[in-house]
Amino acid sequence: EEPYAAVILKNCRHRYCHYCFNELPADVVPCSFCAIPRYCSEHCQLKAGGHQSRNNVEEVSLHVEVPTEIENHIREVTSENWEEKISEHFPEHRHECLDANWPAVLPHEVVLAGRVVVKSLVQRRDLVEIKALDLSYSYTELAVEVKLELCIYAIVLLVCLQRSPSLDLPVNPYFVYQIIIIMCQIRLNSMAIIRMKSSDPNTLQDPHRKLSSNEAASASTIEQVSVGQAIYAVGSLFNHSCRPNIHAYFLARTLFIRTTELVEAGCSLELSYGPQVGQWSSQDRLKFLGEKYCFRCQCRSCSVVNLSDLVLSAFHCVHPHCSGIVLDTFDIKSETEKLKQSRHAGDIYSLEPYVQVDKFGDLYAGEMDHNAQEKSYSSLHAGVGYCLKCGSHCDLESSHLMVSKALGNIKRLQDGIVRKELSSSLLSNALESVDQLRKVLHAYNKSIAEAEDSIAQAFCFIGELQCAMEHCKSSIQILEKLYSPDHVVIGYELVKLLSIQLSLGDVDAGETLNRLGIIFEHHYGSHAAVVFPYLKSFKMEARKLC
Ligand SMILES: [Zn+2]
Ligand SMILES: [Zn+2]
Ligand SMILES: [Zn+2]
Ligand SMILES: [Zn+2]
Repeated sequence: EEPYAAVILKNCRHRYCHYCFNELPADVVPCSFCAIPRYCSEHCQLKAGGHQSRNNVEEVSLHVEVPTEIENHIREVTSENWEEKISEHFPEHRHECLDANWPAVLPHEVVLAGRVVVKSLVQRRDLVEIKALDLSYSYTELAVEVKLELCIYAIVLLVCLQRSPSLDLPVNPYFVYQIIIIMCQIRLNSMAIIRMKSSDPNTLQDPHRKLSSNEAASASTIEQVSVGQAIYAVGSLFNHSCRPNIHAYFLARTLFIRTTELVEAGCSLELSYGPQVGQWSSQDRLKFLGEKYCFRCQCRSCSVVNLSDLVLSAFHCVHPHCSGIVLDTFDIKSETEKLKQSRHAGDIYSLEPYVQVDKFGDLYAGEMDHNAQEKSYSSLHAGVGYCLKCGSHCDLESSHLMVSKALGNIKRLQDGIVRKELSSSLLSNALESVDQLRKVLHAYNKSIAEAEDSIAQAFCFIGELQCAMEHCKSSIQILEKLYSPDHVVIGYELVKLLSIQLSLGDVDAGETLNRLGIIFEHHYGSHAAVVFPYLKSFKMEARKLC
């Protein structure tokens, strides 16, 4: 779907095209009138501004002899009238042009609101009423300061729009009110346009570059960068789920939606607005969604006890060989809340399968045991600091102390990587700390995965790729439990592993590449090769190893 309106983020103005949001080439095409927006091509410039660059507007004089037919055609496509031919397309920058540079100064949401306002006015062909979009908004739940800010921006925007020669908007309370509603709708419904960025273009783009053992290296990582903000007439309507069944991605400005699991006819398609199971704990997700989107999430993961939420920040049982989960106060609260809710619904889910961590492997595929078991409810209810499997008590206060000390060491290691100064003591302290974390925290706690990942990076940095690979694998093993093995996040992690394996010449690289290919194909379909152009060079290099 093409956006109803879209705008570039302020911090991306110099790197990405202001129309298609692709990376800018060396020879950028600025708007030929105000010179503020920068485009990747004349095509984007024309689409955004609706007028052509000045040098083309002048009468064309041809230096070579061509048939009259072609000469007429050239004259036709380079004359100013050409813009009339794309009249059904709305040039979103035109009303901002030829004026003071307010679009460069005002926040991007305000500029986006301006584009929505003008588009709806132009489409109605009258300047009497702004046709509000059919999207939800929540003005009453906003803080007073936010309301005040919206009012001020609405008035400023209206004054700016009024200066546009093609519009003659009256400044009156009704228009201010309409603009405030549109700004509220944008707050709740706009989508971030994402680009995939690789942190290490050298290793990814040059398949022939081998890392020697003494060369400072880093594993190739995939980073998601927000480049724009957009309103989609249909795409913005999807509801949120912390375990979504669809995946959204962008090619230029176009939104693509792909289901990631079999969805029965009549079942709702749900997108994640950001927080997902495996990424954040259930109380963090609820807090974020409540503050930003003003609703309490009732998705399947927020209303039913699930493995990922239980273990994400859980502690280890005092018995070294017991795999039971020990929960802290906050986690107990949120999980008990879920149990209570399903209890009220007359449908109590058994905790039993979750308590026996050894069986977790089957859990992702298998159905949950729906037999009512009061026992599990009470065991969770009384459970702060108690192992959910064997019932032993754990002193969480001393555990917290050990964890914060260990995480401090990991943080110092991360800082060292950023500063490119790694001492052997930093690394050995961090290695000790991971061992500590494994003793105190549950085996699937996310902090362990993050610590392992940092250590893998550090080993990459000093060229110990074999060690880097082991720690990278340990991190992925935990993330697979938290997200599910075929989640797109696992795909991004496998890119790191694969780049290490290829540098090592490891024979398992082919297997990693296959898994990666399946996950990306699942989430990006035939566009996988477009979104991740370096997959091709990975394949070439992996083939050499076989
Ligand atoms: Zn472009
Ligand atoms: Zn301009
Ligand atoms: Zn949720
Ligand atoms: Zn135990």
